[in-house]
Amino acid sequence: MTNQAGRFGVHGGQYIPETLMNAVIELEEAYNHYKNDPQFNAELTELLNEYANRPSRLYFAKKLTETLGGAKIYLKREDLNHTGAHKINNVLGQALLAKKMGKTRLIAETGAGQHGVATATAAALMGMECVVFMGEEDTKRQALNVYRMRLLGSDVIPVKSGTATLKDAVSEAMREWTNRISDTHYCLGSVMGPHPFPTIVRDFQAVISREIKQQILEKEGRLPDAVMACVGGGSNAIGTFYHFIGDKDVRLIGCEAAGRGIDTFETAATISTGKLGIFHGMKSYFCQDEYGQIAPVYSISAGLDYPGIGPEHAYLHDTGRAEYVAVTDDEAVNAFEFLSRTEGIIPAIESAHAVAHAMKIAPEMDKDKIIVVTISGRGDKDCAAIARYRGENIYE
Ligand SMILES: *Cc1c(COP(=O)(O)O)cnc(C)c1O
Repeated sequence: MTNQAGRFGVHGGQYIPETLMNAVIELEEAYNHYKNDPQFNAELTELLNEYANRPSRLYFAKKLTETLGGAKIYLKREDLNHTGAHKINNVLGQALLAKKMGKTRLIAETGAGQHGVATATAAALMGMECVVFMGEEDTKRQALNVYRMRLLGSDVIPVKSGTATLKDAVSEAMREWTNRISDTHYCLGSVMGPHPFPTIVRDFQAVISREIKQQILEKEGRLPDAVMACVGGGSNAIGTFYHFIGDKDVRLIGCEAAGRGIDTFETAATISTGKLGIFHGMKSYFCQDEYGQIAPVYSISAGLDYPGIGPEHAYLHDTGRAEYVAVTDDEAVNAFEFLSRTEGIIPAIESAHAVAHAMKIAPEMDKDKIIVVTISGRGDKDCAAIARYRGENIYE
């Protein structure tokens, strides 16, 4: 699906300064070699299984299903992974690749801190140096994750430029990589950025759909009617979709963060409100203002408020293979509370966006239909913010 230049239809590519070209070429060559190396794959599988707790369960949510009264709902439990989300799948892959390439230092960007914590974790495990760039605003909002990263032995650098949030942290990490390529790997956190990152991150997250397919065949003897996941940059969603792309009868549904609504300026729903553009090294859809500048985005979920979407999703949208829907803060918070009460599973507020959509469509589907919802992470990190949303103040 991707051609030589890393294109997904018109999307993707490598819109980067000349100084970064060598780094992405070196990375692409190394990846093309190691992805077919049995030794590399055996080491990665061992890390995923023994350290990160894979395979994650495919859990039949019986009570949720009965309460909603329609399609059978299975939950893919990425929240049970070490560090509490799907991010570790990608990070272990990239850290191992970097190590094989002879790199001794990882750099990463982070918004809420989830990808930063996962990268700091892998660096600690593999004995690598680690520097995480984080918008200064986010370091204040996510002080606990800053502490975690430092505890794990990483440096956290607050980024003061722009709006001092995630997009500025990505820009700073790219700049740092340009300055120091010889010993440093940029461990990018989602299916975005210049080629080969969208492909590398997708391949490492594709373990999610590989397992779902095997697990659902064991449990139900057939493929699901729909798989769904929340979409920030799009890594847990593409991981959930990937091995079903060729199965035309399986609906692929991505749930974007509508924030306060797609008809307001406080939204992060890129497919619903964005336009074609070029940013952070790739061509894709981005939330933009009337002058084509990247627009400030908003969602209650820090993991979903990125102004762009990975190029493969942009392509799956263009071709109509995948559907993208927008879910508001309010709907996500309701789903967060509903899943907690119904199944005893507190999902990340990001994942709650996918649960909210399942709550909408499951009751309209026949009881013999099957849907799989990926729970990308656990919700402990969100409890204080949701309490605040409901007007209650608790200490984090
Ligand atoms: C980071 C994060 C997301 C959003 O990232 P994607 O690349 O879109 O998957 C979703 N859920 C959780 C729990 C996260 O930590």
